[in-house]
Amino acid sequence: MLRETKSTCCYCGVGCGVIIEHDDDKIVGVRGDPDHPANFGKLCSKGSTLHLTAQSEIQHQVRALYPELRRERATPRHTASWDESIDFIADCLHQCIAEHGPDSVAFYVSGQMLTEDYYVFNKFAKGLIGTNNIDSNSRLCMSSAVAAYKQSLGADAPPCSYEDIDQADCILITGSNTAYAHPILYRRLEAARANNPDLKVIVVDPRRTETAQDADLHLAIQPGTDVALMHGLLHICLWEGWIQQDFIGQHTEGFDALKQIVRNYTPAKVAQLCGIREQDLLQAARWFATAKASLSLYCQGLNQSRSGTAKNSALINLHLATGQIGRAGAGPFSLTGQPNAMGGREVGGMANLLSGHRDLSNAEDRAEVARLWNIDDVPAQAGSTAVDLFEGLHKGRIKIVWIVCTNPAQSMPHQVRIRQALERAELVIVQEAYRTTATCDYADVLLPATTWGEKSGTVTNSERRISRVRAAIEGPGETRADWQIACSVAQALAARMQKPRIHFDYQSVEEIWNEHRASTYQRDLDITGLSYQLLNARGPQQWPFPEGAQTGQARLYTDFKFATSNGKARFIAMEYQTASDKTNARFPFVLNTGRLRDQWHGMSRTGTVASLFSHEPEPCAYLAPSDMQTRMLNEGDYICLRNERGSVVLAARASQQVQSGQIFVPMHWGQESVSGKQTAAHRAANKDKGDSLESVNLGISLGINLGINTLCSDAKDPISHQPELKYAHVRIEKL
Ligand code: SF4
Repeated sequence: MLRETKSTCCYCGVGCGVIIEHDDDKIVGVRGDPDHPANFGKLCSKGSTLHLTAQSEIQHQVRALYPELRRERATPRHTASWDESIDFIADCLHQCIAEHGPDSVAFYVSGQMLTEDYYVFNKFAKGLIGTNNIDSNSRLCMSSAVAAYKQSLGADAPPCSYEDIDQADCILITGSNTAYAHPILYRRLEAARANNPDLKVIVVDPRRTETAQDADLHLAIQPGTDVALMHGLLHICLWEGWIQQDFIGQHTEGFDALKQIVRNYTPAKVAQLCGIREQDLLQAARWFATAKASLSLYCQGLNQSRSGTAKNSALINLHLATGQIGRAGAGPFSLTGQPNAMGGREVGGMANLLSGHRDLSNAEDRAEVARLWNIDDVPAQAGSTAVDLFEGLHKGRIKIVWIVCTNPAQSMPHQVRIRQALERAELVIVQEAYRTTATCDYADVLLPATTWGEKSGTVTNSERRISRVRAAIEGPGETRADWQIACSVAQALAARMQKPRIHFDYQSVEEIWNEHRASTYQRDLDITGLSYQLLNARGPQQWPFPEGAQTGQARLYTDFKFATSNGKARFIAMEYQTASDKTNARFPFVLNTGRLRDQWHGMSRTGTVASLFSHEPEPCAYLAPSDMQTRMLNEGDYICLRNERGSVVLAARASQQVQSGQIFVPMHWGQESVSGKQTAAHRAANKDKGDSLESVNLGISLGINLGINTLCSDAKDPISHQPELKYAHVRIEKL
């Protein structure tokens, strides 16, 4: 008999509520939850096809169903029991820690994990093993937004709500193709425009994306010039008297130092640097500063940069200087890429964080966590963040890596080096729902995990709203929930390490949630009032939500008291910096990457739904029509994009969205797991090339293809450590 279970979409940070239709064994349908405040019943093309990804015939083609392991690298993995796999991992971890210390082990986890999964993995690494070497693919997603919120406003807390979209008079979208990447939120923006014809939308993007085409003003800046643009806007606001002196004087600090810098960013200079018209810059400044309420929406275009924190801070500077914060419809609002990047940070599941937004470098915070976990101490030294973690593996400093629910062999920049790092690791443990990801090729142990529709817990979306995720059916084969796998190995390792006091014997996911929410007591994200019972009865809620509260908090800093030590927001003074790659005669094009409307990440899930390929059936390199002409390229010609990090073969397509000198490639396609021999094939194919490349990738002709991030630089932001995935110099070779 068919039943219905309320849950949450597992794709993006909008966090839409879904109703799953199912019987005991099968998910047969999905529709939007009309009661969920993120989407009010709407779903985009990805969310509305979730049930198709759960069909059993697909599941058996792509799912990891049984544990597999190999004790020797040269042999293939064999199917193993859970007991054998758990003992093997616990023995390997124990021996490695004894011989090389706790920092010889690292975890690389995912913003797709549920908060409870994240909580136990963080406790496992920092509490049981005693290493802070746990980082997440959220490092590739939101870490620059987080770093900027913390340095400017004092806390990792997006201050806005989705309802601010309805109340804004000006919306500045920068570094985000919201129409494609956060479709349901974009529907809300469209509705707001229909209700308020005076609402102005400004889009900053090097590409004339679908979002840019709808805008009242599109600033098609040169890639990477965002800080110069923000300084230019602030310069105009100062010159025109559009800044809020009273607000700046009472509620902020550091404005004079910033003023000294932005005085040099004249409209003429900024227009030339950014490649835009002076009058457009002036128009944008006027609309933003003089609107009753200005909201900014931003995402990876700001974050994925070696100056990502500076780009975010420059935008927040603009909000502070014009007083566009802490009011309905106003504020800097980062859009979270993944469904639970926020929940992961709430439990401290990254190399530089601790549970409940505590600070690793603060001795009192560490002591509090140690008390909560019933251990002696938590190590003070920050662990290796994503790029450094794989570099540590490459250099042999880290021996064992446990990868959960993410695909670094496709998603990390400079993939050739990442794959070498995985080959050099002494042990690679991959915990995955899908056996088709490129990273699975490198697994010595493959642990089959349950996924959407089969697991329970919570997630937090972009507006700090916590939603329940619920299982509708049991996972196939011998799959287990991520938290259960972590706890089983943790208990086996704790016995070997003779650390019986730390608790991993959780009887339910709710027990983990309760431990986590208790740990947030009197923290900025206090959720002590958010029991499962309350979430089940009253639906998703925004934090903070302390014990006894009737509602969460829709908007932060409404009293203009910020989360800094003195309550004042900080202006951050910085100069504009160019990207790490420079274009030159050898590599004259700038590569930009991004999302398509109907695909998600590396397509392990969306790639199983035929209808989602009808929008864009194959990976292409999009070039300006003038560049196609100059290079004598016809539609569909195969070209090789190459730089010093590798090469990727794609069909060329002309696009009016792309400026001359730039190339856009969707991020989704890569190499599926087929055989470890492919790495050798790449090397062999590359032998006769004169570019000292470590890999060549004749994707189409050889039937192999590394992802486009092969070409991206692993240069990273000095504060957030987020790598530069949105800018790489390349050349085009016609095949
Ligand atoms: Fe899912 Fe995001 Fe689409 Fe909502 S907008 S249905 S959360 S992919």
